[in-house]
Formats: sequence, structure tokens, C-alpha cells
Amino acid sequence: MSESVANFVSPSGGPELPQVRRLVTAIPGPRSLEMFARREAAVARGVSTTLPVFVTAAGGGVLVDVDGNSLIDMGSGIAVVSVGNSAPHVVSAVTEQVAAFTHTCFMVTPYEGYVAVCEKLNSLTPGDFPKKSALFNSGAEAVENAVKIARAHTGRSAVVVFDHAYHGRTNLTMALTAKSMPYKHSFGPFAPEIYRMPMAYPFRWPSGPANCGPEAAALATSHMTTQIGVNNIAAVLIEPIQGEGGFVVPGEGFLPALAEFCAENGIVFIADEIQTGFARTGEMFASSYEGVTPDLVTTAKGIAGGLPLSAVTGRADIMDAAHVGGLGGTYGGNPVACAAALGAIRTIEELDLVGRARHIESLMMPRLRAMAAKFDCIGDVRGRGAMLAVELVKPDGVEPDASSTVAVAKACHAAGVVVLTAGTFGNVLRFLPPLVIPDELLIEALDVLEDAFASVS
Ligand SMILES: *Cc1c(COP(=O)(O)O)cnc(C)c1O
Repeated sequence: MSESVANFVSPSGGPELPQVRRLVTAIPGPRSLEMFARREAAVARGVSTTLPVFVTAAGGGVLVDVDGNSLIDMGSGIAVVSVGNSAPHVVSAVTEQVAAFTHTCFMVTPYEGYVAVCEKLNSLTPGDFPKKSALFNSGAEAVENAVKIARAHTGRSAVVVFDHAYHGRTNLTMALTAKSMPYKHSFGPFAPEIYRMPMAYPFRWPSGPANCGPEAAALATSHMTTQIGVNNIAAVLIEPIQGEGGFVVPGEGFLPALAEFCAENGIVFIADEIQTGFARTGEMFASSYEGVTPDLVTTAKGIAGGLPLSAVTGRADIMDAAHVGGLGGTYGGNPVACAAALGAIRTIEELDLVGRARHIESLMMPRLRAMAAKFDCIGDVRGRGAMLAVELVKPDGVEPDASSTVAVAKACHAAGVVVLTAGTFGNVLRFLPPLVIPDELLIEALDVLEDAFASVS
């Protein structure tokens, strides 16, 4: 329980919360437990909880709960509050907008914020060509719309996705998602014309990580040609670093080879940057790491500092393929969410959060690698920027070790550090700190993690 860390005040003026890990009760504390009992009675059990502490305030790198505990946040609400909770520019933009008007429906009577967000997205996403955007509410909705647009543009129906992919929980996006439990089990039937290809997963590639990118690309392009037929494929959809699938960074060359294959065959290449986008990986968008220019990009999560907003952005001619009235929704590009996005993007630019994500990598990676050398159960350390993970395996092999993963996560939670798990086999600990987290807190979280590994080993 440390109080050694000074209060953190970001250059833009906030947050005010003391940036400390401080436990005054067990985790969860008595008031959280009381609320959790209410929650169990009132909320459907299908909606799960990683750590049952009820939050009253959050900012910078901490979450404060109803019992007065201050926890280090290494999850950012799943890569959403990259600019920090209640970031000052987000709060002021939202406050101003909410007082002016809260909704008109952009399809009924428009407003400037929606257009300004689209202009920002068009200029920030990879690619030096005319672009257009459309706004929605959730990541899944953005992915669905990207598929609609790609089908309208190509007049084809097949969509290619990959092992370990995660694209959402609606009917179409469940079909696009790889993992059955918990995302798809008992919820079918699923949408047709979805084809799954092997993923370039270096740690698990049979002939070793060095061959992974080219070999996986050769397999995927061969399957697309022979099993689907390129003239039937509307889109290839891929996360440039897989999120829920376990922070799999594709083997080098895989993404460029897929993009090239798509360009040669009139297939729309869609990068799902919902988890990787907005400075998270140390680039504004992770596609840039291998110089890949997607035709369409889906964004959400980090886009608006915690308010629900998502987008599809891409080549203007493809985006305009859908007929007038074919895209939209009651709330898509809500004015309050758009104001939040403009505040979040301003924060990313003013605080150089792209550079900050790289700095976080430079602090965390050496520590995680040192832990991998020390603890047998860590098989792989990977990721980019502030999207980093360790994969846990049985000693000296690749057999997934989900029970140790859960045990380490639980030990971190008990010590006041919020970490998340991921992976098809449930054996990945992933780290997604807010990009504004003070260095001292990050280092303290790594100390807690190391202790957790020591206690489980
Ligand atoms: C979270 C996520 C989604 C779904 O976003 P929701 O807002 O939860 O619908 C889709 N794709 C990726 C890569 C994600 O990480």
C-alpha cells in the first residue's frame, strides 16, 4: 500500500484525484459487496464482472471505489479512457454541449460536431486519398456498417476473418468473432458467408515465429482463392493487433501481404482498429506499423474518452457506395459523444499521447521480459505501445495455463491493481493503462504484478 506517489496534475489541468494506490479495506470492500448483492438481484447474469468494486471517481491512473480504496487502473475500461477518465478537455466539451442541446438526430437536422469528428477521422487515419466517415454508437455497429459498405461497393457477399478474431456481440459480429465461449455459445444461428482463415500468431506458429507472417499469408490467400473464390469476397476484416484474442501481433509481413492481395483482387481491406486506435499502440493507428493503408478503418473505444461513439472511415468512393438513407441510426454520432471525441482527440494531440504510449512500452517491456526470464509460466511477452500482454503456459511448452492466469489476475486485484485477461485459451494477461498514467504508478503496478507471479509460481 503505497502513498509515495505525488498527486498527478496533467498539463491540461487535471485530474485532481491523488495518484496513489491505497487500500483501506479488503478488495472488494463491504460497501462494494452490498452493491454487488443488489446487482446480482437486479442485473442479468449474462453481463459479467471482472472485479466487483463499485467506482465513484476515476482519473489519471486510478479508480476510487465506494469503500475509499484507490486502485491502479491497468485496463482503461478496455482501452477506452486512453486520455484518462474525465479528461479536462472531454469534460469541458461535453458540459458545453449538454447544456446547448443533447440530441436532434443527425439524419433529421444536422450539427457541426458530427462533421468536425468526420473531418478529424478523415485526416488522422492512414492513407493520403479522399476519405469520408460515418458515425455510430458501438464498435460492433461500426463493424456491421463497414461490412454493409464493402458489400454495397463490391456487389459481393463473402467476408474473410481470422482465427482468434473479436469483432463484437451482435448477430453479424458474433459470426465474425472466433471464440465460442462466452461470446457465441447458445446464441446462434449465425450470419452466413463468413470465412475464417488461419491467423499469423507467431508464438503458436508450427514452424516458428520467423516464418509465421509469410506462411500464414500464403495459406490465407490460397484458401481465399481456392475455397471462396476472390470474385465472391467483399472484404477481408482484421485487427492489426488482436485484442480479445490475446494481443496477437501478426507475424511480420502478414498484414501487408493481405492488403496487397485485396488491392489486386478488388477486395475491401478493413482494419478493425477499435481496440488499437487513437494512440494506444504508439501510433495513432496500428496499421501504420507495417505501412498498411486499409480501405476502411473501424474505430470506437478510445475515440471519445468514455462516451459511446464509433466510426467507419475510408476511401470516399467506397464509403459513398451505400445509397442515400442506407446508413445511420437514431443515436449515431450523438452531439454529446461528438463533443467528447473532439475533446479526446485534442487531448491526444496536445499531450502527445502517441509518444506517451511509446514511453509506456519502454518502461513496461523490459520489466515484463525480466519477469518472463524469472517465471517459467510466462511463455511470451508481446504488444506495442501501451497495449502489452504476457501469455501464460505450462512450464517449457506452449500448453495454455488459464488457471495461473486467473490466479495472477486475482492476486493483482486483491493488491489494488486492475488487470484484464484475454486470449482464446484464457491464458493472456493484458495491460491497457490510461496513456496519462504517471510513471510511478505504472512502476508500482509492475511491482505488484511481479509479486503476484511470485506468489502463484
Ligand atoms: C471491443 C471491440 C469491438 C466491439 O466493440 P463494442 O463497442 O463492444 O461493440 C470490435 N472490435 C474490436 C477489435 C474490439 O476490441
